[in-house]
Amino acid sequence: METIKVKDKEFEISIDANTIDAAIQKMAVEINHDYEGKHPLFLAVLNGSFVFAADLIRKITIPCKISFVKLSSYSGTASTENVKELIGLSEDIRGRHVIIVEDIVDTGLTLDKFLQDLEKLLPASVKLACFTFKKEAFKKSFRIDYLGITIPNEFIVGYGLDYDGYGRNLPDIYKIVKS
Ligand code: 5GP
Repeated sequence: METIKVKDKEFEISIDANTIDAAIQKMAVEINHDYEGKHPLFLAVLNGSFVFAADLIRKITIPCKISFVKLSSYSGTASTENVKELIGLSEDIRGRHVIIVEDIVDTGLTLDKFLQDLEKLLPASVKLACFTFKKEAFKKSFRIDYLGITIPNEFIVGYGLDYDGYGRNLPDIYKIVKS
């Protein structure tokens, strides 16, 4: 199997661009159907989801808006655990039908907190569109309403996902080669 190098690690192909496109097309068909007449607001979680969000939104055929948020990490005072705070939300989401756009759910800890923060802003509804899901690593119980592809518990890069900042530009998704 052909491998590529990203920074100092070897990766091999895991999901090619055609498979990615077909999975997103399926998600878009469902969303177009479910949100007819609802004027949803897509909220893409930066940085990783920018490529997925760009592809998904161009397959959405109903009236919609998109905005981008970031989750910034800070160290809590009483704990060494990193807690991610929602930043950069410029839209008023009260009464809106929100669809969160995320590239990957691993343990789910990050999004769990984000979902709780969003609920406090009183949206009409919140659903989650996530491209990849590491089912075996998932520790939470929130529902992924629109899922692209379930993946094994292996580190991946490409299609917006990075390894130490590199690899986001790769059109396919690669998994790390275990040495
Ligand atoms: P969580 O464990 O909270 O679900 O995931 C936190 C974040 O870790 C994700 O949003 C993503 O940025 C990063 N992450 C988790 N698994 C991977 C992976 O396999 N590759 C890359 N590049 N990032 C990952």
